[in-house]
Amino acid sequence: MCEACTEIDTRFEAVAKAAAPLGSRLPRVRDPVLGGWIAKQMHALLRNITAGHCALDVVIGEGLDALNVGRRAMDLSYSNIGDYAREELGINASTATKMARLARRLRDRPLVREAVRQGELTARKAEIIAPVAVGDDQARWILIGKAETVRSLNARVKAPADPDEEKWVNLCADVSPEQLSTLDEGLRLAGVIVGATATKMQRLNAWAEEFQSSHPAPPDERADDVLFIAEDDLEPLKKHLEDENRQWAGLAAVQPLKTPHSNEEIDPWRIHAELKQHLEKRTRWDEVFGHVATLFKQSRAWEHLGFASFGHYCEEQLGMAERTVMQRIALERSLSRIPLLRRALREKRISYEKARIIARHAQGEEVQGWIEKAETMTCVALRRAMQDKDEAQMCARGTFSAWMTVSVAEVVKAAFRAARAAAKRWLSAGECLVALAEHFIETWRAQLKQANTLQRRVRARDKHFCQVPGCSRAAVHAHHIKPRSQGGSDDPENLISLCAAHHLFGIHGGRMRVTGTAPDKLVWEFGLRRSYVAA
Ligand SMILES: [Zn+2]
Ligand SMILES: [Zn+2]
Ligand SMILES: [Zn+2]
Repeated sequence: MCEACTEIDTRFEAVAKAAAPLGSRLPRVRDPVLGGWIAKQMHALLRNITAGHCALDVVIGEGLDALNVGRRAMDLSYSNIGDYAREELGINASTATKMARLARRLRDRPLVREAVRQGELTARKAEIIAPVAVGDDQARWILIGKAETVRSLNARVKAPADPDEEKWVNLCADVSPEQLSTLDEGLRLAGVIVGATATKMQRLNAWAEEFQSSHPAPPDERADDVLFIAEDDLEPLKKHLEDENRQWAGLAAVQPLKTPHSNEEIDPWRIHAELKQHLEKRTRWDEVFGHVATLFKQSRAWEHLGFASFGHYCEEQLGMAERTVMQRIALERSLSRIPLLRRALREKRISYEKARIIARHAQGEEVQGWIEKAETMTCVALRRAMQDKDEAQMCARGTFSAWMTVSVAEVVKAAFRAARAAAKRWLSAGECLVALAEHFIETWRAQLKQANTLQRRVRARDKHFCQVPGCSRAAVHAHHIKPRSQGGSDDPENLISLCAAHHLFGIHGGRMRVTGTAPDKLVWEFGLRRSYVAA
């Protein structure tokens, strides 16, 4: 173990010891001076926890980036590192992709990289300045990055909005059973057109865009705003407080923490083993983080420290998106509400990602059953099963709801106005959705009425997803399990849907093998080409 690793472990002992006496709830404090003192203590603790967590994120990002080279992830049976991280490390795929992206950017920016490794610059700030901090400009941007807030840095660099940090709204509409079946058909069809992996938001967006391409939208009277439930808009307040507090210089001293060096491995199996080790540490940090962040949020400690909102605090002081922290807190609450789930996580029967999925979708009695199922399922299969369950429940309740970013919501609202103008009467949200879905179905059905080929039938059976366990990609090929050259038939049992990467580089690249019969009696073998095992 390297020196930095030992230091991280030592630091961990210290923060865990400091967090332990806090318990699961803080007493109510009426005295503002005492309240302020407690807030500062928790803040110092949280900053130190985040530093440790981030140091590990950087080294895990480097490992993931190393798996991105050549076909190393495919050697481990995954078509991309997002799928790898979700299934093998229990890290959310988009988080993992960002971690690897930062590592890749840091590789070409040695000075910025060193500042992050030394804990002088947060990963979040490094991410923001990366586009401009190149070559000789690195040193200058590191100084600016250290001195300024995330907010003002973003403004200076004119960084495009990160979709994860864009505000989200929820659209909720009452619909009848007949209307629901039209909406379902429209969603299904949009999946075929846009791709099987498209989210509900992307599918709605496709309807709305399609509708507006032939029906103009009248000017916005903001009549639909009430349907889209958003968070509060705190931007002006944030700016004011930031000016007032002179950017919180010296709020809490954090001892910089060095990032361990990754070993520059090229063998994917060794990179995998190293990642697992670092993940083990990260999990322990994550547990303390969840605990302290939850207390901090509950006690509204950010108010004592002069921040406009909890999100504002997360952004500026922890260098994390509010969504990320809120997701962690939501998980923490579920874990204390559902002790079964916490136990399964501690006993390593399920990964963090699986616990998150179960916590989000299952309640009460269902939990035990889902934990058992989750143990033998991939994350992606679990997520799909849970989504099916949720959709079925929403249908039963007669509601249609979808989460979307504010920018997609604007497109949908414009399409609603266009639908009302076309109908020449007021339509409810449910009726607007039906109009959009019907138009989409009408436009595209003809295109899809092509011959019902065998390949198409096979892909429909596999719900248009690649069938390699853990793969999240859409299927584009149908593969003969037993090749035709060896007498394999064209029967659906001998055909399986695959993404291009798994088909070409996985199976035909000799890295994995599938035998048996589709869809439920398949036998998979992985790791067949271990060309790196030398040295
Ligand atoms: Zn080490
Ligand atoms: Zn094939
Ligand atoms: Zn695949």
